[in-house]
Amino acid sequence: MWVVVHVFAGLAVAALVKEPVWLVAALALGTHVPLDLIPHWDYTVSRRPILWGWVDFLAGLVTLLVCLFALGMPWWLVAMGPLSGAPDFDVLIAAIRGGEARHWFPSHWKSFPHGKARPVPGVAVQVVIVVLCAVAIATGMPY
Ligand SMILES: [Zn+2]
Repeated sequence: MWVVVHVFAGLAVAALVKEPVWLVAALALGTHVPLDLIPHWDYTVSRRPILWGWVDFLAGLVTLLVCLFALGMPWWLVAMGPLSGAPDFDVLIAAIRGGEARHWFPSHWKSFPHGKARPVPGVAVQVVIVVLCAVAIATGMPY
């Protein structure tokens, strides 16, 4: 799953649950596993992983800045976005080390039934998730 989708999921949890912080953090991190189960398309298997990686990073960054400055979400709730996406550093570090590097996060293990789909439906499902999360983020206002 693209990191920006995990960022949106973490922000959605934060916007709806708000407190206590430990619960919000546990749920934000916890959303990573079920999202990785959903059949989706990852750019790590594309011909341009670095280009798509930058697009993904910048989309996530813009999302966080919008929540922080435009929506007025407190920083500790905004931090749940990167926390939710943080397990994907596992994928980035493994990619830098070489394809066969060991992953530490359970939904990235070879034995995990990681969802896979062709590019068009695999991106479309992520767009739907982002839209649903954006609705949740708006629903949670004011923070
Ligand atoms: Zn992941």
